[in-house]
Amino acid sequence: MMDRDKIFVAYGSDGLEGARRLLEASGAAALFEPGMRVGLKPNLVVAKPASSGATTSPQVVAGVVEFLRDLGVRDVTVMEGAWAGDSTVRAWQACGYRELEKKYGVRLQDLKSDKTRGVLAEGLRLEVCVSPLEVDRLVNMPVLKGHCQTMMTCALKNLKGCLPDSEKRRFHSIGLHKPIAALNTVFHPDLILVDSLCGDITFEEGGNPVEMNRLILGTDPVKVDAYGASLLGIPLSEIEHLTLAERMGVGSSEILPDTVTELSRDGQQPLAKHGALPRAARHLARHVDARNACSICYAGLIHALYRLDGQGAPREAPNKIHIGQGFKGIRDKGVGVGDCAGGFETRVRGCPPKAEDILRVLRVLRGFHAAQGTPLTDSS
Ligand code: SF4
Repeated sequence: MMDRDKIFVAYGSDGLEGARRLLEASGAAALFEPGMRVGLKPNLVVAKPASSGATTSPQVVAGVVEFLRDLGVRDVTVMEGAWAGDSTVRAWQACGYRELEKKYGVRLQDLKSDKTRGVLAEGLRLEVCVSPLEVDRLVNMPVLKGHCQTMMTCALKNLKGCLPDSEKRRFHSIGLHKPIAALNTVFHPDLILVDSLCGDITFEEGGNPVEMNRLILGTDPVKVDAYGASLLGIPLSEIEHLTLAERMGVGSSEILPDTVTELSRDGQQPLAKHGALPRAARHLARHVDARNACSICYAGLIHALYRLDGQGAPREAPNKIHIGQGFKGIRDKGVGVGDCAGGFETRVRGCPPKAEDILRVLRVLRGFHAAQGTPLTDSS
């Protein structure tokens, strides 16, 4: 059995290689035996490619399929139902899953036409799809991204794709947060592999993608989502479905110093492309002086600035925020984000730093400018 207290993280833009590396390093092979029926539940919410920030990359799915084939597991089905406004088959095509089908023989089980079953969960009667309940192993493969109603979406909310369309609509009429949490007492994925290569900063349907170049693996959906929230700079208290799921006993949000194992980052990290920022984040980039910043570092800063902006922060930053390998060894006044810019007077440690840590320091700065004159302290 895998340890529910552990989370594994791999960095880089290669989804296939990253997924394989994570699965091998985490000991996930112990979950599978030849001849098992395995269901993969990606996020194919809309007919938009992964580069839009909405859907799970087919490369990450390919990494899981190859890993399973090496273990002798060949009965692998992708199980998903796009949101009520789109067709799963259209999403399958637009997201590049036809190529997976051709190369590996992976089938789509469109959950929109699946058999359903009524279940009682936390006092709610829910109508759920049957197929994901009947496989030997279920692998949840969400995208880590923002969401306009639930703040973020990751492992817990991704299971909403295991509902018929009528029930997806009804979830909104009965409050969304509690039914999402309750749904996680019905489905118990054996493994969670989060695609955090490129997630939308604001909406689940994409359009404002931020490259984060990271994959996350775990087995406790509450812990995985809590870790994801820290990367987006969202306090857990603002994610109602997550706090409810924890209260229902789905998992634990506790992240201890030894919870996260980061796999070694061999080779060059992809650098941030400053010309390709999402619409929602473009004005934020004016606050940043980036020199050879890794995309994962830059993404954390953009998420933090976005959260701060949403809280009424001034749009004009009095100081530039420095980030990137080009600031290594430079000592100066001002703000540095990441270990490379650790020589600045105020700095955020980490390689890469988390958005929640960046946000903490930026809030202090905002307080400083409002107060007009309190000296900045070392926030490392
Ligand atoms: S601290 Fe430097 S090396 Fe580390 S992620 Fe940021 S820019 Fe890259």
